[in-house]
Amino acid sequence: MDRFQKDRPVLETPIQYIKGVGPRRRDLFEMIGIKNAGDAIYCLPWRYEDRSAIKKISELIPEKEETIIGTVSASDVVVTRRRGLKIFEMAVSDETGIIYAKWFNQPYLKKLFRNGQKVMLSGKVRSKGFHTYGLEMENPGFEIIEDMGKVKDEVKVEQLGTRNSEHGTEVEVKESLHMGRIVPIYHETYGLNSRRIRHIIKEILDQFLDKVIDPMPDRITVENRLIPLKEAISNVHFPTQGTDIDLLNRGESEAHRRLAFDELFLLELGLAIKKMAASNEEKGVRFNVDGPMSERLIEILSFRPTNAQLRVIGEIKKDMSSHHPMNRLIQGDVGSGKTIVAIAAMVIASENGYQAAMMAPTEILAEQHNINMKKIIDSLGIKSCLLINGMGQKEKRETLKKIADGEAGIIFGTHAIIQEEVRFKNLGLAVIDEQHKFGVMQRATLKKKGYNPDILIMTATPIPRTLALSLYGDLDISVLDELPPGRSPIETRLFYESKRDEAYSIIRREVTKGGQAYIVYPLIEESEKSDLKAALTMTERLKSAIFPDLSIALIHGRMKSGEKEEVMSQFIGGKIDILAATTVVEVGIDVPNATVMLIEHAERFGLAQLHQLRGRVGRGSQGSYCMLMVSYPLSEEAKKRLSVMVRSQDGFLIAEEDLKIRGPGEFFGTRQSGLPEMRVANIIRDASLLERAREEALKLIAEDPDLSSYPELAANLNKKWKE
Ligand code: ADP
Ligand code: MG
Repeated sequence: MDRFQKDRPVLETPIQYIKGVGPRRRDLFEMIGIKNAGDAIYCLPWRYEDRSAIKKISELIPEKEETIIGTVSASDVVVTRRRGLKIFEMAVSDETGIIYAKWFNQPYLKKLFRNGQKVMLSGKVRSKGFHTYGLEMENPGFEIIEDMGKVKDEVKVEQLGTRNSEHGTEVEVKESLHMGRIVPIYHETYGLNSRRIRHIIKEILDQFLDKVIDPMPDRITVENRLIPLKEAISNVHFPTQGTDIDLLNRGESEAHRRLAFDELFLLELGLAIKKMAASNEEKGVRFNVDGPMSERLIEILSFRPTNAQLRVIGEIKKDMSSHHPMNRLIQGDVGSGKTIVAIAAMVIASENGYQAAMMAPTEILAEQHNINMKKIIDSLGIKSCLLINGMGQKEKRETLKKIADGEAGIIFGTHAIIQEEVRFKNLGLAVIDEQHKFGVMQRATLKKKGYNPDILIMTATPIPRTLALSLYGDLDISVLDELPPGRSPIETRLFYESKRDEAYSIIRREVTKGGQAYIVYPLIEESEKSDLKAALTMTERLKSAIFPDLSIALIHGRMKSGEKEEVMSQFIGGKIDILAATTVVEVGIDVPNATVMLIEHAERFGLAQLHQLRGRVGRGSQGSYCMLMVSYPLSEEAKKRLSVMVRSQDGFLIAEEDLKIRGPGEFFGTRQSGLPEMRVANIIRDASLLERAREEALKLIAEDPDLSSYPELAANLNKKWKE
């Protein structure tokens, strides 16, 4: 039977047809996302072990990673007296000595080993105890080389001759996939151990490597000193003798570098094409940006814009006056004053007779924008309105009408703005606030509400500029890298349960001085399974027992819009001393008189979220406090997050740390960001490679926009971005 359809690219050969796989293992492979030969080739080892130098037991040096070959002379499972741990112990000897291997909690290993088997062990050598002389390895890697004289069938044995005859008896050194070399270690899953995966990958390479086509233009491989693709694929799995093991384990070997480049190049190529498509788009609105309103706006403000704000407004004006639609991302740390920059753009749109809409991720934030900006907008003679789902039916109908007939010039709202029923008269500018809280779809939908409206996107999750340029390659980027003057730093501290009273007394002190406080809880209602202090019950306790003399209110996402609005306006008006809240206050809320925030169960929040929450205080000229209440036990990751929070207040640095701690995949949520997933590259580790890839991609697209000379590349690109 011809198993392979002629017209199917060879690398798409289903995994089940690979020798040694079959239907049962196919299911296991599919569970880890490997459907075909090509997927398997890109299933990289997560680490490597150097098993190339096989030593005699008498030559072993304690505390070093070593590999030996010997014969099993005894083995058993012992149970420790104190903790009942099951330890499988085995003695292995060669003609020069004996070494003990032990594995914790893997009693099933007993079934694998028999006396007389020839095995290889690889791991860190230790001196065994103080009293008994001897050497041992804990949890070593192992291979069974010969079972009672029968060579294990999986091991492809090749006689390489003999080595090491110093001790009289000659040891056979055989080459296999699993020993005598730098050995790749794969992530194991149930039913598929690393050894099996290694074996199957070898099979695939033997069968398909020759058929791999290198899609990269030669010039790029040469100028970037990249090794050939086939060599990279082969070496990344089975590194050649002498490859630096540390480079391999860091994912920085030549082979890794080549594969990572390819991946980043496809990413950048896709973004470059998107960007080109955007700039070729039908003409957008060409606004007159020199009307009198911008100046009037600045005069009305109670503060002088920062230089960063003025610069970014200038960048926006340039975009708006061009006939290409604007696609600009504004990155600015919490409190850097993004709102007014957006308002400046919205005012220009309005002055030109177009509508402008701003979409915020929460009703509270949309309401706040509406309340805070209304006075300014009114005094410029522009009509504004608020559109959220929580408003009454009648009010909503009226608002929709105002939007449709153009009476409303500036519209604030939530995702309600992009719903089917909303018709704009002439939307010329759409602003998305706190875009990291939205998905990519929203941007597209909002865009469709107008005729090529200009788009302004704002985010407080800053990432390093070069990274941003590369990742949001289809957007232009502005950075608000300056905080308004007069801000005092926020003192951030960890508090444990035992210091709760002290935290409360700091809140009381701040309120007595005339400030206001936030207390943030991870949840609304007590859940059965967890011991989280729910906002509801704790608020009752705060009111009755802890601060009976202060005014306390609760706000959370499940309240009706009207109620939320009421609470927020009371808090803004200073009528509430302590606002107990869930994470609905995470983004955007701006009450400069609030000087202290207590975050309960801070260990449960992510770094970006903590930074956003903390950004609610420190918005006035008073010194502010952020108290992180944590409970034991803290995971290592939580400790890292919290220490970053205590150390730094710089959103860029925090984002970078967050990226490092969580890894790019989780940080960006690739699914939601719409970017293809990275299998080899790590945009932090490979930042400089990313930049090179970007340059090359832009160059290539400028030369050959349709990639017509590079059909293989175009095919790979489509596949990558489709995934
Ligand atoms: P964010 O960038 O977090 O959205 P906001 O736009 O909410 O920040 O601004 C934070 C606070 O700083 C607001 O109270 C705003 O009025 C104030 N603000 C903005 N720009 C300036 C400035 N140039 N000088 C003084 N205060 C400013
Ligand atoms: Mg904001």
